[in-house]
Amino acid sequence: MGEINKQAKDVARSNILSVERAKEKSFLSQDSSSTIEAKLYITRFCPDTEPHIKTNPDICIMCKGKECTKFCPANVFNWSKTDESLIIAYENCMECGACSIGCPYESIQYTHPKAGYGII
Ligand code: SF4
Ligand code: SF4
Repeated sequence: MGEINKQAKDVARSNILSVERAKEKSFLSQDSSSTIEAKLYITRFCPDTEPHIKTNPDICIMCKGKECTKFCPANVFNWSKTDESLIIAYENCMECGACSIGCPYESIQYTHPKAGYGII
């Protein structure tokens, strides 16, 4: 069971690296229609009123790297210096699943959107 979890985490980490590489590549691309931002623009969402992503503010305020603001392909996580807290635009979530394993402090509680909500 432990080996399966390790393999799942390795695959997920590899996916996160792929996302980061794709982000860098899209920023370097001359073709603006191939950027992640362009693809996000054509994705349609039906957000629930209840967030499907939550974090622990006591953990996040101590986190130096704020990795969630880097690995999420949809830029769902943004750190507010004014409020010293995460702003979570869960409405834009692409449901890639990376955030449930990407946070080094396991601060993110992710559940899939209820049926009929999320990406449509
Ligand atoms: S969610 Fe995780 S990575 Fe993001 S600020 Fe909180 S502790 Fe840091
Ligand atoms: S599951 Fe959603 S919030 Fe989490 S990394 Fe993927 S797109 Fe971002």
